[in-house]
Amino acid sequence: MIHLRTAEEMNVIARGGAIIAGLLEELPSQIRPGLSTAALDAFCERYIVSHEGAVPAFKGLYGFAGSVCVSLNEEVVHGIPSSKRVLAEGDIVSVDVGVRLDGWCSDSAWTFPVGQVSQEARSLLDVTERALGAAVEAALPGRHVGDIGAAVVRTVEGAGYGIIRELVGHGIGRDVHEEPQVPNVGRPGHGPLLREGMVLAIEPMLAAGSPGIRTLRDGWTVVTADGSLSAHFEHTIGITARRPRVLTALGQTVGMESGGWVLEAAPNAG
Ligand code: MG
Ligand code: MG
Repeated sequence: MIHLRTAEEMNVIARGGAIIAGLLEELPSQIRPGLSTAALDAFCERYIVSHEGAVPAFKGLYGFAGSVCVSLNEEVVHGIPSSKRVLAEGDIVSVDVGVRLDGWCSDSAWTFPVGQVSQEARSLLDVTERALGAAVEAALPGRHVGDIGAAVVRTVEGAGYGIIRELVGHGIGRDVHEEPQVPNVGRPGHGPLLREGMVLAIEPMLAAGSPGIRTLRDGWTVVTADGSLSAHFEHTIGITARRPRVLTALGQTVGMESGGWVLEAAPNAG
């Protein structure tokens, strides 16, 4: 079933989400050539648990070994942190973070450049981030889940990138993965109705080449089948009457307008 959350419940999710946002803001100062993905994972875990009551929601989830997922270059998602995987100049690295706080989950991911990256990589990151912004903006009550995917399609159209279809966003709340599924392709007006109170993790994943994927023999790491670069941007959002509320942001409502993230004062709780 699809749960509807109160403003107070969204506030708790936003407190966990702000921890993720703070962590993702810190990461550019940590990410550098020579850093192993295990060291990156350890930094993330320390950051999360330094906040009272917060734990990494992915650790042990379905048996996952890391605290966060770290996926390099052609890896799309679910990369397992390893001391043998070391960041190199020109890589792109996706860090997917879940936090559980006071029994509520939040989920956000960002893809970062390692040092100087190619123009191709830069452009892929820009388009994927804009796709997330457009998808978030589409999450309004009275619209449908298909409007979210359609916004991703509209943003990516013409860029020549592949939209990964086998992996989807999701409802989130007491559990990391709840109903409904939120595909990154869709048709306006199709799919479940979006209602005030729904909390969704919206997470476009793009490939620089074709969108086919496969899973490595480790059983976790999903890579592009053609070996092309992949980027992943994700926010947890709450659907409100006024506008989507980004719950994985730093204490402010965040939206995206004309291709740039905008901050506005959080509405008075009460
Ligand atoms: Mg995630
Ligand atoms: Mg997610």
